[in-house]
Amino acid sequence: MPLSTMKRVLLKLSGEVLMGDQQFGIDPAFVMELAREVKTAKETGLEICLVIGGGNIFRGMAGAAQGMDRAQADYMGMLATVMNALAMQSALEQLGVQTRVQSAVQMDQVCEPVIRRRAERHLEKGRIVIFAAGVGAPYFTTDSGAALRAAEMNCDALLKGTSVDGVYDSDPKKNAGAKRFDTVSYGKVLADDLKVMDASAVALCRDNNIPIVVFSIREKGNLARVLSGQGVQTIVRN
Ligand code: UDP
Repeated sequence: MPLSTMKRVLLKLSGEVLMGDQQFGIDPAFVMELAREVKTAKETGLEICLVIGGGNIFRGMAGAAQGMDRAQADYMGMLATVMNALAMQSALEQLGVQTRVQSAVQMDQVCEPVIRRRAERHLEKGRIVIFAAGVGAPYFTTDSGAALRAAEMNCDALLKGTSVDGVYDSDPKKNAGAKRFDTVSYGKVLADDLKVMDASAVALCRDNNIPIVVFSIREKGNLARVLSGQGVQTIVRN
């Protein structure tokens, strides 16, 4: 399906894009910029599910590397994703976009739990649903959460907005001659261990035939360009 004819997408943003130019945490001005991009995409009539990572605040692996219990550290990471979801909700609502946050770790005072049929209803009503806390289990990432929600919400594609403008055959920050793929198969991504998303997320997309569109969210207007089929991106598919 061409990107321009998609009806429903899951947009995954890495936590680090919420930092803006900071080294850590949330830059509210930058979150507002991102929210504007999402609003513009929404105004084309697209139904949008959002998943935001937590790497700008806490990653379980980093905690474990410093001696913490891995599962405990992962729960902290999940809580970080809820903070990011609330920051994005706040920015979108300031722009007049209706949203609901659904968390895979239940916290009734703060947001809804993940209920698929309720999420469907929100989308029908024109709201953006922000899915927080990944899959709700340690040893996973928000990439896996994004793949899972994209599958259960029947999304036409998983758009991964990150700091890089696609998938390369080697790290473009280390190798000036690195080549970007326009399209690449799930099989090659997994076999060559290309840095797109973690393997479980890629495998879930492959098994459910969900294309993964990797693009840079740091460039202004890029989300709209990608959605209209004109942007620079890599599409991972069969
Ligand atoms: N996490 C987890 N289970 C999940 C989703 C996230 O344990 O289903 C934890 C994990 O520790 C991860 C952290 O939350 O490192 C933040 O998520 P992620 O690393 O995916 O964020 P991103 O890299 O996208 O900013």
